[in-house]
Amino acid sequence: NSFSLRACAMDVVERLEHMTSKQEAEIILDMEPSDLRVTGDRFYWTQIIFNLVENALKQNPAPGLKITVKGTLNEDESICIAICDDGIGIPSADLPFIFRRFYRVDKHHTQSEVKGTGLGLSIVRRAVEAHGGEIKATSTPGSLTCFTISLPPEPEETED
Ligand code: ATP
Ligand code: MG
Repeated sequence: NSFSLRACAMDVVERLEHMTSKQEAEIILDMEPSDLRVTGDRFYWTQIIFNLVENALKQNPAPGLKITVKGTLNEDESICIAICDDGIGIPSADLPFIFRRFYRVDKHHTQSEVKGTGLGLSIVRRAVEAHGGEIKATSTPGSLTCFTISLPPEPEETED
């Protein structure tokens, strides 16, 4: 079973419409090829992408945030899904810990009233790993923050 990554990302865009319109944020979908398909449970993947896009929106209430959801099929059939934003980002001192359960960046939460439990990213990482993939985060605060998911090629279908 496989699903269209674009359709999945469009679900997320729709579910977060209330936030993007209020914050004047923009979510850009960029799939190569445009009908890129991912194997697995579509609802799981919608939740993974939802969590990452929602994080970007939650941490950046100021108007004009730009988020991109980029999917790429590599030559070796591995897939890369990158969710990037141009918001406040994550200090390098916090970056190694953000996938830990209950970890939240102090600086972010003393400055604003952003709500959350700090569980989202630990669940995302587990879900990605359950699909045989891995997730990494990079950040240049104020410029570009990316969560990049790599999925290995699907094993060849064997006939009989
Ligand atoms: P929950 O997801 O459980 O509601 P949460 O969003 O605070 O709570 P996580 O999703 O695990 O928890 O994220 C952990 C922390 O990482 C966030 O609290 C925030 O400080 C930081 N973070 C995550 N994504 C971003 C981002 N795109 N930009 C800036 N900071 C981020
Ligand atoms: Mg979260």
